Order: sequence, then structure tokens, then C-alpha cells
Amino acid sequence: MKRVGALAAIVAATLIVGCGPKGPAAVDAKRIERAAAGEWLSYGRTYDEQRFSPLDKVNRENVGTLGLAWYAEFDTDRGQEATPLMVDGVLYTTTAWSKVYAFDAKTGEKKWEFDPKVPGDRGFAACCDVVNRGVAVWEGKVFVGTLDGRLIALDAATGTEKWSVVTVDQAKPYTITMAPRVVQGNVLIGNSGGEYGVRGYLTAYDAATGDKKWRFYMTPNAEGKADGEISDAIFAEKANATWSDGAWKQSGGGGTPWDAIAYDPALNSIFVGVGNGAPWNHRIRSGGVGDNLFLSSILALDATTGAYKWHYQTTPGETWDYTATQHIMLADITVGGKPRKVLMQAPKNGFFYVLDRTTGELISADPYIPMAPEADTPAGVPISWSTGVVGENGRPIENPSARYANGPALISPAPFGAHNWQPMAFNPTEGLVFIPVTTVGALAQVYGDDPNFQYRNGGWNTGISMNLGDLPNDEAQRAALKAMLRGRLVAWDPVARKARWSVELPSFWNAGLLSTAGGLVFQGAAEGQFHAYDAADGKKLWSYDTTNGIIAAPMTYAIDGEQYVVVMVGFGGAGALSAAAFLPDRPRLPGRIMVFKLGGAAQAAAYDIPPRAAIDLAGVSSRASVAQGRSLFNANCLVCHSANASGGYLPDLRRSAMIRAPETFRSVVIDGALQANGMASFSRYLNAGQAEAIRAYLITEARRQQGLDTAAARQQTKK
Ligand code: CA
Repeated sequence: MKRVGALAAIVAATLIVGCGPKGPAAVDAKRIERAAAGEWLSYGRTYDEQRFSPLDKVNRENVGTLGLAWYAEFDTDRGQEATPLMVDGVLYTTTAWSKVYAFDAKTGEKKWEFDPKVPGDRGFAACCDVVNRGVAVWEGKVFVGTLDGRLIALDAATGTEKWSVVTVDQAKPYTITMAPRVVQGNVLIGNSGGEYGVRGYLTAYDAATGDKKWRFYMTPNAEGKADGEISDAIFAEKANATWSDGAWKQSGGGGTPWDAIAYDPALNSIFVGVGNGAPWNHRIRSGGVGDNLFLSSILALDATTGAYKWHYQTTPGETWDYTATQHIMLADITVGGKPRKVLMQAPKNGFFYVLDRTTGELISADPYIPMAPEADTPAGVPISWSTGVVGENGRPIENPSARYANGPALISPAPFGAHNWQPMAFNPTEGLVFIPVTTVGALAQVYGDDPNFQYRNGGWNTGISMNLGDLPNDEAQRAALKAMLRGRLVAWDPVARKARWSVELPSFWNAGLLSTAGGLVFQGAAEGQFHAYDAADGKKLWSYDTTNGIIAAPMTYAIDGEQYVVVMVGFGGAGALSAAAFLPDRPRLPGRIMVFKLGGAAQAAAYDIPPRAAIDLAGVSSRASVAQGRSLFNANCLVCHSANASGGYLPDLRRSAMIRAPETFRSVVIDGALQANGMASFSRYLNAGQAEAIRAYLITEARRQQGLDTAAARQQTKK
């Protein structure tokens, strides 16, 4: 080839490159659909959300030499749930409080950060910690949904704001914790808030401009009007008739699509997981009448227009907080000798579903936790809500006591679900879906009507008596309960319809998953270890102790032939906040992003662990009613400060100097002195006398705790 020809070829190549989008994160549909092995371009890596990486440089044989390549520490110690994305050598991630970071993926050098400055008191409207699950990228922009309901587009190169839209009525207790997805140039974003009382919907915004393209509501319009949105037709035709009179007209009905979205370009369908009812209690929400579409449903929409295609409701007449927002995964598998395009989900209700994603037809539904007919359940053992059988009509068969119509009943799963938001992962070679199971049936809840239910605007509105969630006062009984609560990593065979292997985990609240072609499954632990398991049999092959706790799902990428494995470190989320007594007892520590490679030899700085302060209760007392304080605590404080104030995750109120004097306690609870930290004023719901009753209850719990602490200290001295 002549010199001129070579030059022409180079110029031509440059022109070809120049035709596409320029600059960092120049991601489009083709790039996500083709998904280069070394990159991670969308929340679940690809549109099918399989969380399977074709990278195999790190594998069964050598994973034992995996070591830390680099890490960075963040300015928040709340829960870290993000899956970072890696595109064009840059790692984009988010932390608690919806902050966004860009790092050089090879060196760890921070390129930029963006703080949307979410007001601290928005933490009050977050049922399950002030978490964020990550960003989306598209044509040079990075998109984040913020806790206060904004969708913000950032310049991928600099982190500066390009546009911002408010996606919710900020006067209502809406939040956003999910990662946006970009489909056909539309940024898709849902919302959270079903526990408080909002009306859920999914909205598509133009990625270039932020203009709204369409919106699909998940519950009816309470005034009986059309919304002027794409969901109007199916509500008029089918969904409105599945609702009756009840508190949903005040609360919006719930149905928040707060996490799962998958996309099939060939079918031009998006698949959305829909949340629980508001209030939870079907009798209070809708008079106990109707299926209440589209609560707890998997919904297929036209990817371009948002128009309804089909739905499958996992839990008709939902009354237990059984969301179907859990991870939706698409795969092409052979069932009964026939290739099927399927959609798979393991929602909170304990069934693993395989659906035909073209038609919505149910292929199979099998319990992935133990379920049994109530008649076969021994006395004292929690009753499973379903017998474990889904009928030919696609409806689960419920146990007689499941709806707690004749009084409180101990029902499994609890509102944490048998599987919560933590992502699953797929291994196409093994034909396995790995599920981070959050309970093993033992974690049950006493469900019962709240006899005093009154809708409280902006407050927690479940219609369930939270007084039933108290822990036993006897410490030995608490220890026995804790011993029953175990997590499980389950390798589920969707064709054989059963688990092939499983690993017992010490805590019920586990981390999300990553699967790789190296034959590995990665998962972090509540206790802080980051583990790699053999995908074929669950054998543990590698562990690294982060000395923190992990709930986020790991991801992996490659640069210059080197494979990196990444996990966001930092404990939190719903389980940590409300059930701390059953989880590792540890202080809250700053979040970190930790990046591993073969032979990595970096050392992470030891955490500066604050000594646990003992408070002096000498002379501390209150004349207020402890019993009233207990009820008020359960109704207002339990969800963040844990049952019986037993938690160490958000401030352990039994060890807080705030409870020593009524004025100090009132300044926080009524006057909002710590609003900026996320502790909002409760003056909307509590008066000074009620706050004092809560203090009286906390003093009682603190004295009890100090008695135990002293006993524990004596025990130590004896040894
Ligand atoms: Ca919920």
C-alpha cells in the first residue's frame, strides 16, 4: 500500500469514528445491546439485566490471588446500594444521599463529584434508608434520580448539570432510590413511598432535553378522572374495576415501581416491577375487595409509547407488603424441549416465577423458601401466606389465616420479603439464577389490623399494628430468635424448578450478586466479608474482609487486559434500620468503593471505630407513661430506630445522651435540631407530651440495656 493510501485509510477511520457520538460515555442503544465484554453500561450490565459478565480472566483457578487494586472513601456512613457503571475507562457510581462520583477506572483517580444537595429532612420519607442504586449513561450524559424526586442529567466529562426535572409532587412523601434506565433515548424513572402513601408511576423523559414523553400510573385516579396519560385506557378497561372504596383514595394506593426495569428490543417491550399497596392492609385500603391492579404486578409496556401490553399479578389483593419490584431478568432458555423467551423474578412473596415475556403466560411458579398448607404447620411455627401452589389460573392458593381477618397472625415472609431489592445474577452455562434469599421462612411478622388507623398525611400508613412487632423482653428469647434468622444464597434451576445448591449465610440481610464467565459468583456479607463462590457447586473460593458491611451488588470490567471486580461497601437499607437486633452489632462506618484485581496489593486504611459511649442515667427519669411511649415509638420511630430501640445502625437511642433531659429530646423530636442529618421534626405527628412519653419508654429500654451491659461485663470479668 502506498503511503497516501495508508493516510487515506487513517483519515477514513477517523471519519467513521467521528460519525458516532463523541466524548466520554457516548453510549447508545447499539452499544448497550452489543455490550462489549469489558464494560458495564446499564444497571444490570445489559438490557436483559442478567448481571453476567463474559470476563473470565479472574476465574475458579486463580481467584484466590484477588487483591485490592484501589479504593476510595465517601463522606457518608449510610447504606451503599449502587452498582457502578464502567464506560470508556470511567467508573460512575452513586452513594447514599444521591451523590454521584466519576473515577478513572484503572487508577482510581477521582475525576469529578456531584452533590444534588438533597434536603436532610427528606430522609423522613425514605422507608428504607437514604440509599441510591446508581446512574444511567447515554450520549455523553450521566443520569441520577435523587431522594427528593428529581431526575438530573450531568455532563459525563465534567459532572456539571445539563438539565434537571422534578418528577414527583414534592409536597408528598415520594422518594427515588432506583437507578434510571435509558431506552430508545428515553430516561425511565419510577418512585418509592408506598409505606407512606403515594400513587406510583413510571415516567419517560427525553434524554437530550428532559422533556416528559409519557407516564404510566400503577393505581387508579382517586377522583375517578382520566389522567391524560398512556395508562388511562387500561384503567378504564380493566384496572379501575379491581378497586373498591377504602383508604387508597387518600393514600394514592401505592404501587410504586421503585427498582426493576428490563428491556427487550426485539419485542419492543419494557418490563416493570410494581410495588405493594398503600396502606398495606387490603381491608383498610380497598374494603378487602378486589385484586387492586397493578399492585404487586409485573407489567409489560410498549417501549416506545408506554402503552399497556400485558401484566401478571404475583399477589392479588396484596395485604403483606409483598412487592413485585424485585429484580426482573430476561433470558432465552429451553423449557420442555422448546426454546422460550422468558422473564424471571423472585419477588418478596417467596415464589420464583418464569413467564413467557412475549405473551405474559405463566410457565412456572415454585416456592424458593419453604411453604406449606396451614393444616400441616406445627403450632408456634409461622404460617406461610400461601400453600406453595399457584393454580392453573395463575393465582396463588392462600392459607386460611393468611389475611389475618380473625385476629393477628404470624405470617411468613415478613415485609422484608423472602428476597428484597438485592439483585440476582444469571449463569447461562450452568443454567442457574442465583438468588440472595433474605429469609428462610423463619423471619415472619405478626400481621394484624391497626384498630386506631387514621390516615396521616406524609406519615407511615400501613394499616397494620406496629405494636405487634415488639421483641420479647427476655434476652434468651431474643438470642433464640436471632439464631433462627439466616440468609441463604440459592442457585436456582429455572428449568428443573428447584435449587441445585445453596449456601447458608449467618445474617438474614444479604448483599446483591455478580456472576462471571470465570465460573464465579460474588457476594458481600452483612459481616463485611466479600466472597467468591464456585458457580457450579457453591464452594467458597475467596474472601476479603472489608471490616464494614456490604449490601450492594458487585460488578466487573476490564481495561488493558486486566479484569477488575468492584463492590460498594457500606451497611444499611431496610433490614439494617428496622431489625438491627438480628444483625451484626457494629458502628456505622463510612462507605467505600473497593476495586480488586489479580495480585492487587493495595492496603485499605483501618477504619477509625468510635468507642461506644455509655450514658449516665443517674437521676434521669420521666413521669410520662411508658406504655404510651412504647405505642408511639412503634408507630413513629421503629422503622428507622429498630424494634425496641435495639438498633445500633441509626443512632441507638438507648445509648443517646439525648434521652437524658426532656428539653434536649424535645429539641430534636419536636424542634428538628438534627433535621440536616435526616432526623426530621415530628411536630406534625407528636406533641411535647407524646415526645416525653417516648423518652420515658427509651429510658426504660436504656436501663434494661445497661443492666444487660453490666451483666455482660461481669461475665467477661469472671472469664
Ligand atoms: Ca414496601
